[in-house]
Amino acid sequence: MGKLVIFSAPSGSGKTTIVRELLKRFPRFEFSISATSRQPRGQEQNGVDYYFLTHEEFRARVERDEFVEWEEVYAGTCYGTLRSEMERIWSKGNIIVFDVDVMGGINLKSLFKDDACSIFIMPPSVEELERRLRGRGTDAEEVIRKRIDKAEFELSKSSQFDYTVINDDLAVAVEEAASIIENFLK
Ligand code: ADP
Ligand code: 5GP
Repeated sequence: MGKLVIFSAPSGSGKTTIVRELLKRFPRFEFSISATSRQPRGQEQNGVDYYFLTHEEFRARVERDEFVEWEEVYAGTCYGTLRSEMERIWSKGNIIVFDVDVMGGINLKSLFKDDACSIFIMPPSVEELERRLRGRGTDAEEVIRKRIDKAEFELSKSSQFDYTVINDDLAVAVEEAASIIENFLK
């Protein structure tokens, strides 16, 4: 078994932006491509951003116990980590990087313990979170509302992570996350 780094945050905190920067810095990092039952958004591609499954396919894979963890992150939309995805990355000797929801992050940490480093990305405020979600311009108003409604609950779980990084100034947040990871990999 290899190592894994987990990033969780309320949607819009800047987790994907930070993870992208870190993937450039750490050559052995490989992003865990999750499966989801939602539709592709913007330029997203199947097998690159997510494995896009129909609701029926997702459910069938749950029944076959193919997921390490999965969550119905938003009502009617499921996301999960396939066992085959973790094996694919570890078989190359790489370190798995996860971008999962808060409950998924807590579950992965409790499964993999000291082999896992869990980092919570905190937005400066809920108002700023809302601004970023709207600024991203990828989600319908109803989707944005669902995400903001969930944020308070997610923020209340930050203490269950190994580290919290506040994403106010992006460059500072990336440096902070990079130094946490360097320590973990030592
Ligand atoms: P998440 O993956 O957590 O949902 P994203 O990485 O998609 O969030 O970021 C949401 C939006 O906020 C994007 O438009 C991104 O460019 C922007 N963003 C990310 N970090 C910052 C920051 N530190 N300051 C201002 N805007 C940011
Ligand atoms: P989005 O729809 O913005 O891509 O992602 C919505 C949420 O689902 C994010 O919080 C993201 O971290 C989470 N997510 C993505 N993949 C997984 C996964 O495999 N497991 C869990 N539990 N959450 C995931």
